[in-house]
Amino acid sequence: MRSEFLPFSRTSITEGDIAAVADVLRSGWITTGPKNTEFEQKFCEYIGCAGAVALTSATAGMHLALCALGVGPGDEVITPSMTWVSTVNLIVMAGAKPVFADIDKDTLMVSPDSVKECLTDRTRVIIPVHFAGASADMEPLRRLASERDIFLVEDAAHAVGTEYKNERIGRKGTSVFSFHPIKNMTTGEGGMFCSDNPKLLDHIRRLKFHGLGVDAYDRHTQGRSPQAQVLEPGYKYNMTDISAVLGIRQLERLETFNQKRAALAKLYTEKFSDIDEILPLSMPNYDFRHSWHLFIVRLNIEKAGFSRDDFMQRLKEKHIGTGLHFRAVHLQKYYTEVMGMKAGMLPHTEWNSERICSLPLFPDMTVEDVNDVVNAIKDVLKK
Ligand SMILES: *Cc1c(COP(=O)(O)O)cnc(C)c1O
Repeated sequence: MRSEFLPFSRTSITEGDIAAVADVLRSGWITTGPKNTEFEQKFCEYIGCAGAVALTSATAGMHLALCALGVGPGDEVITPSMTWVSTVNLIVMAGAKPVFADIDKDTLMVSPDSVKECLTDRTRVIIPVHFAGASADMEPLRRLASERDIFLVEDAAHAVGTEYKNERIGRKGTSVFSFHPIKNMTTGEGGMFCSDNPKLLDHIRRLKFHGLGVDAYDRHTQGRSPQAQVLEPGYKYNMTDISAVLGIRQLERLETFNQKRAALAKLYTEKFSDIDEILPLSMPNYDFRHSWHLFIVRLNIEKAGFSRDDFMQRLKEKHIGTGLHFRAVHLQKYYTEVMGMKAGMLPHTEWNSERICSLPLFPDMTVEDVNDVVNAIKDVLKK
């Protein structure tokens, strides 16, 4: 057994990153300023999108998107239940109704057929999730949305660097990325809103800072009126330059990070090919490029004779950290007790929700670390 605990995720922060953050702290401009502008421009160039707005989190981006689209009471928003709780919470808090589409059983991608079954004349927005770093199947979803004047907002929290049919996620349409420390690149906390819709970008830029048309830095540098006017009530979701400079540095290494993740994922896949109890996810059958945010396996609980939660606990005792992405949202306390959701509604989501487990995967992980994880799993399975 390894002596040192192997976390499920660890950020790659260099001395250069730390020095760059220290420079911002010494610069006299700490909040949204020149580093934000530079980060947004560089991110835009990388993705190839029309515009990007840096924010405090992906949750903030999703919140602003729902606000800008005017989602409210009487509206329905379709999203998978196999997602992070933030999206669904935001739909509920906007006064709208979350409608859950089921996923493909083996890729965990939202199923366009299931989305189609969820459509009603109240559907306003569809929020697909690019799960684990692979891409959702966007073409059928774009078709469904455009036929009915429904807006698509892609949850790209796992998908910075992911491609769909030779285009980076975020280039077309509207997407929200996350830079939380476990994601493929980090700003401490942070998010990026990308869109090819200039009006929507302007609206998000306004809503992120009190509904003023400008932020403090615009006023400082561009000689704009220091008494900017509220154009509509807004929030305060602007990114600090402390975060933005870290984002600039991380973005420079993103391709390397993702290549390292891919190599480790390949190794895991090879090693699990002869362990019946461990079933990795399948790859979608359309053209895409994986960013390997997560390496998820499903435990064959029938064959193993114990639950996934026990599996995670037993690995922890062997000093291997794991994660759970995600417990189905519709079966969480509030959604069953208050919203009336029930087990049985979403068979593929529920099947996976009981069996999935995310194994350690981060750029600085070594081949020995992968071997330790696989050996610990064999031990737990008494192989
Ligand atoms: C992490 C995550 C989010 C939220 O990102 P934050 O930046 O923490 O707000 C949203 N959706 C998914 C699928 C995520 O994994």
